[in-house]
Amino acid sequence: MNILKFAAVAAVVGLSLSSGAAFPHDGDHIFSREEISAAVGLREAALENSGAYEILESITTEVGPRLAGSPGDAAAVAWMIAKLNELGFDKVWTEPVEIPHWQRGASAGRVLSPFPREMQITSLGLSVGTGIQGLSAEIIHFETYQDLLDAPEGAAEGKIVFISNRMERARDGSGYGPAVIARAMGPSEAARHGAVALLIRSIGTDSHRVPHTGSLRYADDAPRIPAAALSNPDADILLNMLGRGQPVRFELMLDNQDHPMTTSYNVIGEMTGSEAPDEVIIIGGHLDSWDLGTGAIDDGAGIAITMAAAKLIGDMPTRPRRTIRMVGWAAEEIGLWGGRQYGVAHADEIANHIIGAESDFGAGQIWRFTPGVDEGALDVMRAIHAVLAPLGIEWGEGNSSRGGPDTSAMAAAGMPAATLNQDGTYYFDLHHTADDTLDKVSAADLNQNVAAYAVFAFLAAQYDGYFDGRPE
Ligand SMILES: [Zn+2]
Repeated sequence: MNILKFAAVAAVVGLSLSSGAAFPHDGDHIFSREEISAAVGLREAALENSGAYEILESITTEVGPRLAGSPGDAAAVAWMIAKLNELGFDKVWTEPVEIPHWQRGASAGRVLSPFPREMQITSLGLSVGTGIQGLSAEIIHFETYQDLLDAPEGAAEGKIVFISNRMERARDGSGYGPAVIARAMGPSEAARHGAVALLIRSIGTDSHRVPHTGSLRYADDAPRIPAAALSNPDADILLNMLGRGQPVRFELMLDNQDHPMTTSYNVIGEMTGSEAPDEVIIIGGHLDSWDLGTGAIDDGAGIAITMAAAKLIGDMPTRPRRTIRMVGWAAEEIGLWGGRQYGVAHADEIANHIIGAESDFGAGQIWRFTPGVDEGALDVMRAIHAVLAPLGIEWGEGNSSRGGPDTSAMAAAGMPAATLNQDGTYYFDLHHTADDTLDKVSAADLNQNVAAYAVFAFLAAQYDGYFDGRPE
């Protein structure tokens, strides 16, 4: 981290404050002139240089891939503890999370006949292996998961099911849900129909020979069969071969291993509030990543954005009333283990969790601010949005945010939330691939994200009421 740059940022923030005294309250408005001025100062300082890119460069260089349970995961935990201390967080600690430990081994796939061809594949996360000898079988094709569901019993007996649905590109990522069900539920459904393995078209919007991994979910009532993703162009090749009407035989080898359950950690840093230190504003991202790239956009960016935002607030001459708590959640990719464990560990403290947001949608600019609060607090969220609007951020309707994947357990238990929606137009070109690396990230886009998180967290921390409907 460049200390000089941070000193400059702090100076800019300091200039926007009248003095070191607490922010005065103004009975007629949700936020006083001084509070809005401080939030604007944070916003402008972040746009100048937030420090997020340096944090992201650090984790992608010094740690890199950090699949939950792997040596990279342990390195990430150590990295984050050191980074939070280096950046001057007041309190830094870890909370243990028991997690599965799956390890990817070598993988290979090829068409044996009628047109022999090596294919670009990757194992789905948590897939069982085939054994080093591999397996081979005829392909049976379904366009969608629904078509597989609708197929007669035994339709895939002894075959490899191939689901070819292609994910649609959208700024809000709405193409992901309908497509990803093939990855999550496909393996067990294929097994119920008698299949020996599953192949899917990668759940991604690119046209490169780079396959996308991601977790599958085995059901208890079906045999566990191996499952892999083909890159988009390889899926096209396979479709063209199937279109010739002859049987297509495929050979698949996945050398994965399941290890016993192990321990990872949610890593937590706080900037302590000046008046209500027990009341916390939660921001964060997930610390684990897939193993193919360096976890730059998923979710090193979320860690860097929220860590830099908390750091900027911590550098202010006057701390906000409440505590800013920044969390790096463990093992999100393999099943939200850290977020769920956080909900269990803090179940008695929901009332102290004033509002939460998670950054886990890449490194694109934030374009929308979507609340998930009591109706009576929407005017406060509108007042926060007014300071976000100059960043090109729209108001999001619906009031149904749960913050992000790792805050959803707390939100379900009653914690108010907000989503700072990032532009996901290109996110799924890189998501879960070997191409998820730092060169894809723009420092200016990260700065815009930090500006929004700093404004949101600061004003939520400074606000002297609540977002869940309880009286002030
Ligand atoms: Zn993620």
